[in-house]
Amino acid sequence: MPVPAPMSSPSPDRAQALPLAILQEVFGYASFRGRQAEIVEQVCAGGDALVLMPTGGGKSLCYQVPAIARQRLGHGVTVVVSPLIALMQDQVGALEEAGVHAAFLNSTLSLEQAQHVEREMLSGRLTLLYAAPERVNTPRFLAQLQSLYERGQLALFAIDEAHCVSQWGHDFRSEYLSLSLLHERFPEVPRIALTATADELTRADMVERLALQDARVFISSFDRPNIRYLIVEKGASPRDQLLRFIRDEHEDEAGVVYCQSRRKVDETAEWLRSQGVNALPYHAGMDAELRKRHQDRFLREDGLVMVATVAFGMGIDKPDVRFVAHLDLPKNIEGYYQETGRAGRDGAPAQAWMAYGLADVVNQRRMIDESPADESFKKAQRGKLDALLALAEATDCRRQRLLAYFGEDSRPCGNCDNCLNPPATWDGTEAARMALSCIYRFQQISGLRFGAGHLIDVLRGKETDKVRQYGHQSLSTWGIGSALSEQQWRAVLRQLIALGHVFTEGEYSTLALAESARAVLRGEVRLLLRQPSDTRRAKSTRASRGSARAEAPDLDSAALARFEALKAWRAEVAREHGLPAYVIFQNVTLAEMARQHPRDLDALAGISGVGAKKLEAYGREILRVLDTDA
Ligand code: ADP
Ligand code: ZN
Repeated sequence: MPVPAPMSSPSPDRAQALPLAILQEVFGYASFRGRQAEIVEQVCAGGDALVLMPTGGGKSLCYQVPAIARQRLGHGVTVVVSPLIALMQDQVGALEEAGVHAAFLNSTLSLEQAQHVEREMLSGRLTLLYAAPERVNTPRFLAQLQSLYERGQLALFAIDEAHCVSQWGHDFRSEYLSLSLLHERFPEVPRIALTATADELTRADMVERLALQDARVFISSFDRPNIRYLIVEKGASPRDQLLRFIRDEHEDEAGVVYCQSRRKVDETAEWLRSQGVNALPYHAGMDAELRKRHQDRFLREDGLVMVATVAFGMGIDKPDVRFVAHLDLPKNIEGYYQETGRAGRDGAPAQAWMAYGLADVVNQRRMIDESPADESFKKAQRGKLDALLALAEATDCRRQRLLAYFGEDSRPCGNCDNCLNPPATWDGTEAARMALSCIYRFQQISGLRFGAGHLIDVLRGKETDKVRQYGHQSLSTWGIGSALSEQQWRAVLRQLIALGHVFTEGEYSTLALAESARAVLRGEVRLLLRQPSDTRRAKSTRASRGSARAEAPDLDSAALARFEALKAWRAEVAREHGLPAYVIFQNVTLAEMARQHPRDLDALAGISGVGAKKLEAYGREILRVLDTDA
């Protein structure tokens, strides 16, 4: 694709042709993706838009292209409201690399720096200004906007992470509430609000609180086809399972490992390091400086694994995260989807891996039970947990279930563990009845409840102190389940809990029968259970593991050498510019250069991700690197 010549004279279709020309010239991409073209058209024409698009869907271009177009058409500056101070700098860096004049205003700037940015903005030279929401609400800033507005120099408001305005969401920010001011004060300026959070309640909140009643709503499919979903049962050592997964499929690749507690984050990171994995911890209990350093290293270095609590991740723009692993069960499907969505933003193959077990189920329930929230809230939480458990226990397509949860119909995907390797099932109806009658006997005989461990001991006829203490050898259910292993019993219980036939209570998570257990006891419900999946493995994403990377499949050895050489060159440039490597060029772009091996600037310009400014700045260097190492 040759770089189109800048357009000289305005023509009637210019309004439509301009965004595409900008996409190609500035960003080096051949065409818009999904609904980007429609969104861009709506906003360029001065209309409002509410954009719901999954992470990695390409939201940034939806306001960056209109910002550039409107600036070129003489409408002035676009103000981007973003809560992610840590990321503004990288976003601005990426735009400047692409030749777009951008800046940010937030608390990290000195007074002098801030004043310089304000002057740039007021002079009309700036195309995009990123600002934190608390800044937007200050009288000083509003007055500056007013002066731009009066001169017709306020092109667009983009409100990123717009779900922050909703109390229903997980990231509520009170400063977002006053953003409706922008519409009251500057009614002529179009607005675009963007989020990756899709549920109905949040959407309604955004429309109302941001006064977006007249906005066109663009909802994209939430599917992330390049992410492969894998959910395994925890065996004796989940962290060994994790290590095997990383070593077999993601050696030297960037990934995130989520754990529930800070302590587990620290322990897991340390253990992974001791096993030779380049891992760092991240959680809210760490010293702020150190935490920031770890985040910076994760963004800037290649192949780091971040072990983190859910405090880590919002707005992590790193495009080449190749896996997200959960060592503990997330709270609900929304959380799971958001966390796993941080993998594979660049569209190259990525994996979402989760290990879960009986203890996860029991713990999550206990956390809900013990929380100070009111009963209706707890009930909603339990319902959400159940949906997640059903996903984990599913024997059919994971993606189909995930999308169905968000209200989308789809077909079996062919890219999840269940599709690739349909799980063996066994008929657990009899076993389930044994377990339920044993729980019933406990209550009947001693009026007491017991936890899962003791139940399994009784079923398997294992004489422990506790068994003797309560005389449970004399129960009619004593030893009736000796044919099944402890692992199998755990699976039975987990699924009985997941299906809601058994619930857990109190500090010791003792087991009790739900009303629906009757039907199982009477033999009216058949229970098909997953065979333990620990030994089953999804096929590797990689053609040959270790060397070829997900972003660069099917590269021959010469091309692979070029790819590595380009990465080494990029690391230098990134260091010099103080920017993350992917801001210079993404891995997928470097891989394409290595594959195509362009011999001149024209050929190089045809590669996706090479815009005019980067071609000018780095083109010759790249050709040189490609030639020395070919
Ligand atoms: P989001 O903000 O929705 O998570 P981004 O805006 O970060 O997504 O875009 C995700 C990735 O997709 C980025 O690497 C971006 O460069 C790429 N991308 C977006 N739109 C296009 C397009 N039209 N063509 C090629 N790549 C694109
Ligand atoms: Zn599937």
